[in-house]
Amino acid sequence: MSPSSTTLLSVTGLHKAFGENQVLKGINFSVHSGEVVALIGPSGSGKTTALRCLNGLEIADAGTVGFEGGPAVSFDAITKPKSAQVLRDRSAMVFQGHHLFPHLTVLQNVSIGPIEVQKRPRDQVLLEARKLLDRVGLGSKAEAYPNSLSGGQQQRVGIVRALMQQPDLLLFDEPTSALDPELVGEVLSVIKELAQEGWSMVLVTHELAFARDVADTVVFMDGGVVVETGNAAQVLSTPANPRTQAFVQRLL
Ligand code: ADP
Repeated sequence: MSPSSTTLLSVTGLHKAFGENQVLKGINFSVHSGEVVALIGPSGSGKTTALRCLNGLEIADAGTVGFEGGPAVSFDAITKPKSAQVLRDRSAMVFQGHHLFPHLTVLQNVSIGPIEVQKRPRDQVLLEARKLLDRVGLGSKAEAYPNSLSGGQQQRVGIVRALMQQPDLLLFDEPTSALDPELVGEVLSVIKELAQEGWSMVLVTHELAFARDVADTVVFMDGGVVVETGNAAQVLSTPANPRTQAFVQRLL
């Protein structure tokens, strides 16, 4: 599906330091509704930190993050605690590892947030959860516990858990990097289906071939800044910036 002209997310001037380590030095990018943005770059360039700032898992030191129809959250001291909640309501994160509760079944893992935190009607949540588990091929695993599932299955449960939050934007942080190579494909194919359905997403990934296949836009970060942004096919095949060229040549 092609992205619409509506800007869903605007990120401006994002700065973040951990102690003396200035990790983000003024990041700017935007996501249109229905757009898939791949955030790529060398290890340590700040991709995960940028992603975590988008949904308030990290609180940036400066800059703004604004979702369409909501207030642009400005990271000054006064709005910090509130900012995190405003952002968390709009996006959902799929982590490198699945972060599932080991003592809860698959069904409970994906329903507990919507029932206990979002206070949505239990029957409706459970129905929706079963539907989504079916969709990712895990309908028969609803009553299973996470440790009886493969890594790829656990990661697919992690994706359902994110979808159950009914976010406007899905955030993926290296969703396949902790998986054995033979399990990567099943997770990527679920992400690709979601992209084709029109979900808006930001995807931090090393899988450049996958990014070329699925992303509309590539944002290349290096050293805490955005070095190049553009059409995914173009940036990955004929990057304009020498740093992007060197990175892409090594990995593709
Ligand atoms: P990337 O995703 O591009 O590999 P990260 O955002 O994970 O980069 O990390 C960028 C830098 O920030 C690294 O130097 C890392 O050590 C540092 N960093 C990330 N998270 C933390 C943290 N919670 N505390 C201290 N330093 C951190």
